[in-house]
Amino acid sequence: MTPLLHIDDLVVDYASGGRTVRALDGAALTVQRGETVGIVGESGSGKSTLGSAIGGLLPGAASVTGGAVRVDGDDVNTLRPKQLRALRRGRLGYIFQEPIGSLDPTMRVGRQVELALRGRGTRADVTAHLARVQLADPDRVARSYPHQLSGGMAQRVAIAMAMAGEPEILIADEPTAALDSQIREEVLGVIFSLAAEAGTTILWLSHDLPAVAKRCSRVVVMYGGRVVESGAASAVLDSPRHPYTAALVRAVPGAAADGARLSSIPGQPPVLTGSAQGCAFAPRCPDALGPCSADRPPLVSVAERDVLCHLAEATVGAGR
Ligand code: ATP
Ligand code: SF4
Repeated sequence: MTPLLHIDDLVVDYASGGRTVRALDGAALTVQRGETVGIVGESGSGKSTLGSAIGGLLPGAASVTGGAVRVDGDDVNTLRPKQLRALRRGRLGYIFQEPIGSLDPTMRVGRQVELALRGRGTRADVTAHLARVQLADPDRVARSYPHQLSGGMAQRVAIAMAMAGEPEILIADEPTAALDSQIREEVLGVIFSLAAEAGTTILWLSHDLPAVAKRCSRVVVMYGGRVVESGAASAVLDSPRHPYTAALVRAVPGAAADGARLSSIPGQPPVLTGSAQGCAFAPRCPDALGPCSADRPPLVSVAERDVLCHLAEATVGAGR
């Protein structure tokens, strides 16, 4: 069966100040319908670039220099502009960190929701969509302009708009990073319950490992523009097989035993200017061996997950 999303060896470069930054260096990911996928990794690992590439939404400085993204079999990079717009309108929904950025400041919220319903919605439908994202006074919100809303309210409106067309895939790029912790939980609850009702597959790009563990069926760990570990969230986070996943898990507040120091991951994530020769994590990896810096690690399926590491099949995971 054709997977809902298939990303194959995707390479994306940015032209930046006279040099090239390689944001994706052969990223690969397959997602089936109905999955709730948390994509995690430090800043710069390529999460946002991957999310944007799915909808052909990369900025002008970016170019896809290899690989493919297929949504339900359609190769996104070969679609004509009209087909791409149809893909975004009909099958994909996006939520970004800054809701105000996705709303038109000059237009009342109700009109914007009406447009997201592609003109098919009555005023009652608009109110119903705003009520579904648990806005207390949806009629008043519909009459408001975006600047009259709090950040949490604006994000709920953005969610209502993203979900209005019942997309097949919802790509949520750090949707709660700008919200305080209580609102964050409520907004995540709204996103996940609406997606479950609509049968929408979620790709949630996040820094928040515990929240991903709580809400997602699957976790995908990115490093250096590649997916380095991917599998059932409980298996991957309870017993990571990739040394980078293990380091991320150890760095989560609350992971350290009482009184123990929280570990940070020594060193900095790479900024690649071309294809990494070996494993991009090698300079920071406590388990690195000779071949690690020279040879790109193969993808290994082991213990209910896929791992990109020369030592995936060895017992280096023990005791992490
Ligand atoms: P964050 O969690 O901070 O959003 P991320 O994991 O989403 O990070 P990306 O934003 O995809 O990672 O960035 C991947 C790499 O591409 C980084 O090295 C980043 O500096 C670079 N990059 C991203 N956008 C641009 C751009 N518009 N111009 C130049 N380089 C960029
Ligand atoms: Fe570490 Fe080598 Fe595995 Fe990379 S391939 S994560 S350097 S052990």
